[in-house]
Amino acid sequence: MDVAAELDDLENHEGHDVAAILARACAAAEAADRLGDVVLGHRARLVQADMRRREGDVDHAVRVFLTTYEWAQRHDCRPLLARSHFHLALTCHYLGDHAASLEHALGAVELLDEKAPPGLRIIHLIRLANSLAENGSTDQARERYRQAERIAVEIGDLTRQLLVLNNLAYTELEAGKAGTALAAVDRMYRAAAAIGRDLLIVERDTVANIHISAGRYAEAEAILHDLDDAPNWYEAHDLADAALTLTAAQRHAGALDRAQHSLDRCRQVCTEHQLTSVGVRVMAEQAELHAAAGDFPAAFAEYKRFHAASEQLRSAQQEAKARARQAMFETAEARRDAERYREQARRDPLTGLYNRRFVDERLPDALADAAAAGRPVTVSLLDLDHFKRINDTLSHDTGDRVLIAVAEVVSAFAAGTGGFAARMGGEEFLLVVPGASADQAGPLLDTIRLRVAGHRWQPITGDLPVTVSIGSVSTDPYAAADQADLLAEADRRLYAAKHAGRNRVVHA
Ligand code: GH3
Ligand code: MG
Ligand code: MG
Repeated sequence: MDVAAELDDLENHEGHDVAAILARACAAAEAADRLGDVVLGHRARLVQADMRRREGDVDHAVRVFLTTYEWAQRHDCRPLLARSHFHLALTCHYLGDHAASLEHALGAVELLDEKAPPGLRIIHLIRLANSLAENGSTDQARERYRQAERIAVEIGDLTRQLLVLNNLAYTELEAGKAGTALAAVDRMYRAAAAIGRDLLIVERDTVANIHISAGRYAEAEAILHDLDDAPNWYEAHDLADAALTLTAAQRHAGALDRAQHSLDRCRQVCTEHQLTSVGVRVMAEQAELHAAAGDFPAAFAEYKRFHAASEQLRSAQQEAKARARQAMFETAEARRDAERYREQARRDPLTGLYNRRFVDERLPDALADAAAAGRPVTVSLLDLDHFKRINDTLSHDTGDRVLIAVAEVVSAFAAGTGGFAARMGGEEFLLVVPGASADQAGPLLDTIRLRVAGHRWQPITGDLPVTVSIGSVSTDPYAAADQADLLAEADRRLYAAKHAGRNRVVHA
């Protein structure tokens, strides 16, 4: 299996046949794991989770989306970031958080790579347009629908063009622009005719709703007249929605028997496919039908059932949403904790300076960057002179305060040079200064030596002076330097400085 191609196809799917897509996504995930391709594995799991979400397992899906999002952020993996933004946009939309949904939808469009299939770009643009519309930016939404439609036309994908137009028409309807919505519908018919198919149920539902909003009930009924034959039968949810729309059209037109027939059909689909939320709307429509027939006691009884069921549904949905929100919160919290622990593991607790672990991670990169840029780096070891004496004559606590003060002097100096300082252990510090040549480094290091010696030590150590000895090496520009060699040479020079009488710099 060409896993990348399979995933391009799966991400690009029409999204109707959930079980089949789920099975293919599971197979793709296994194939990606066998290849050891982490990014493809994440992509497959995003599709899997998306299908599980459609099946109702929102909690699980949210966790997968967030895990992938975190991973993509950590590894700066744009294609995966774009895709997880897209799914989080859908999730936030479901949770009713339109502002967050818009933010993710924007990320999804901005980060999608040029190589992504155009169909995927269209889907991302539609999501962004829908989010913009939900946030009241209808004009901006129209612009995105236009972009999406342009891509569909360019690649000659009339199916995708229909998808765009259907969403556009729905948005126009919601915005109260029935005329503009109908113009989109006209183009839907033309695109459908060009590929030789009827409008899908979901598309005809949009058209029927537009007619109902304009009081054209006969037209609405005509569009949905053949629901009994149930074309595209597998889209149970779309079919139920459409049957409900048809019922409303027939009721408004006064054809109460036909309306009752359509509503019974809708109820049957809801029962067969466990469509709880449409099922609740069926009760409301049934109450309307009873009322239209003048049977007010039956209408009232049905309305009471509707009210109880919708309360129950709302609390079930709210629980699901609360769990999903909790998952999003916990993941963000876990990331903050992980960052905090990561940072802590790289700091010396006494002075707050970086520690040896940080140096081991950071110094090789600093050396490589400098060599690539043709710049030298100066690496120095600073060791306090006769520090034992401070501990012994004053106290260990005083020794600690001296270490903290020296750390402040060294790190302020490092910050001024664009380099960094670290505590290597005991009373030994590392200072890394980029850019200074061997000639410039000597005087620079003497500055820090004098700063330590000239610090106001009196309040801490009384009459005892505090000084440092420094052993230092500058790298050759352009030459890759080895960290271990550099530190060993700096250490030899530090020893020479001690031997020569302390409180001095040895830089050659
Ligand atoms: P030299 O000039 O040759 O470097 O002499 P020195 O006394 O500074 O060196 P030596 O290695 O003999 O002693 C270092 C002392 O630093 C010994 C150790 O107890 C002390 N020390 C190491 N870590 C800490 C610390 O975290 N706090 C305090 N107060 N003392 C520490
Ligand atoms: Mg010492
Ligand atoms: Mg020492």
